[in-house]
Amino acid sequence: ELLLKNVQHHYGPVEVLSDITLRIPQGEIVCIIGPSGCGKSTLLRFMGGLERPSGGSVLQIGEAPASSLNPLTYIFQHFALLPWRTVEGNIRLVLEDHKLPASQMEEIVTDVLARTRLSDFRTALPKQLSGGMRQRVAIARALAVSPAVMLMDEPLSALDSQTRELLMEDLVSLWTRQPFTAVYVTHNLEEAVRLGHKIVVLSRRPGKIREIVEIDKPLAQRSNGDPDLDEKQ
Ligand code: ATP
Ligand code: MG
Repeated sequence: ELLLKNVQHHYGPVEVLSDITLRIPQGEIVCIIGPSGCGKSTLLRFMGGLERPSGGSVLQIGEAPASSLNPLTYIFQHFALLPWRTVEGNIRLVLEDHKLPASQMEEIVTDVLARTRLSDFRTALPKQLSGGMRQRVAIARALAVSPAVMLMDEPLSALDSQTRELLMEDLVSLWTRQPFTAVYVTHNLEEAVRLGHKIVVLSRRPGKIREIVEIDKPLAQRSNGDPDLDEKQ
């Protein structure tokens, strides 16, 4: 789990985040929602250790899963796939540093492709895929390292609404089969309500926690009631 304590941040004289205290429990998806410029991406960068806040602390506590290769991974709005590498090549890329035996690498690649319904597209190049499929490759790549926490910055906002719907279903079923810990930044309240165990609402200038909403209904039961949607892709 991830623990933020009294995190605050200034860019020059401008205070962008103030007094953020927040716990990301193991196995839960915490959604962060708030107006543009309120500091959501900045907060995520602090969680990922890409930047340090002016004040307060970010702690990762507890054991990462034994299979975990990287403690944290990012998923961005614009997929960040290497265009000259195949689907499989993009996933192998994040595993290459870990010097795994070839058989284990193969096992991980096969597993994450199956989990993201991409087994038939192993040798495809990103440009041959739809936006939704590219984002599924990015999700597969993130899952490949079994991160303790996945940090997702508006992962679906570049997609049309039908594709977004399908990807939400994918995330729900991925989580249901194998719960992961994630922080999920979005502008979209519907996404937050569908995917979050907890929704953190930030206010603007400076970004502060306005409220934290707990959602009790199990994730798997929050479908839009259209079981056929999955077949329409
Ligand atoms: P959006 O919803 O548009 O993605 P956000 O909530 O992610 O916005 P941030 O990108 O975290 O907001 O930015 C928060 C504030 O900090 C903004 O006012 C932005 O202009 C400012 N900011 C972000 N990065 C820097 C930087 N490197 N230097 C100066 N100001 C910055
Ligand atoms: Mg942002």
